[in-house]
Amino acid sequence: MKIDLDSENEWGHFIDPHSFQIVEIIDEVPLGSFVVIKEREFIEDIDRTVIQTIYGIVEEKKFQPMNKRELSKLMSKACGKYILDFNQLPPKVMVKKKLQIDKPAQLAFIMSNRDTFHLKLDKDDLDGGNPYEIINSIIENQDFKSTMYDREEKWKIEYAKSSRSKCRTCSSNIEKDTVRLGEPHYFEEHLNYRWHHEDCVFFQRMDKENIKGLDTLNDEDRKRIEEKLDV
Ligand SMILES: [Zn+2]
Repeated sequence: MKIDLDSENEWGHFIDPHSFQIVEIIDEVPLGSFVVIKEREFIEDIDRTVIQTIYGIVEEKKFQPMNKRELSKLMSKACGKYILDFNQLPPKVMVKKKLQIDKPAQLAFIMSNRDTFHLKLDKDDLDGGNPYEIINSIIENQDFKSTMYDREEKWKIEYAKSSRSKCRTCSSNIEKDTVRLGEPHYFEEHLNYRWHHEDCVFFQRMDKENIKGLDTLNDEDRKRIEEKLDV
């Protein structure tokens, strides 16, 4: 089905439940796809623009919105099926917590820095198989680090190289040589950044380890940003 997005204020991706590929929503979204839509909205009460996320799934002829927890449950099922079919973890799925015998496996699907889905696989998701044994046998032959969850996709901070980039929060241009923050975002396996003004970002939701490029700023700018990060 077609999901119509207001191109000015909405953008989104769908995840193919069979391949776990992340695809930008441009036109058709296949049946069964998991959908993540971002919506820019001005909230008068706080006098600022915020980005809301809408989660859902494409059902027969309609888009069924649901909360992230519900969608994560469906993803866990799809993840279990992928593991049984291919004997490997789906792309961008990592082990979040050390596996424990007789406990559900806790995995994470890292769609982007802002959208991580916590997946919990129990026996039912693996056709009655034991999550500990099945997933252990998959990861024991892989480099441990490659299967463990770490937030390697970092935000990027830098001076705008031109005045052409648009802030994804407020839609106005970001002036050349001013600080801009890039939100990591994958499109067809290529890492891109969605840029924001310094004043348009909620620093409370970040931590220092999750930003790269602080060392490229001058002392004054770096200290100001670090203070915001420490709030
Ligand atoms: Zn802005």
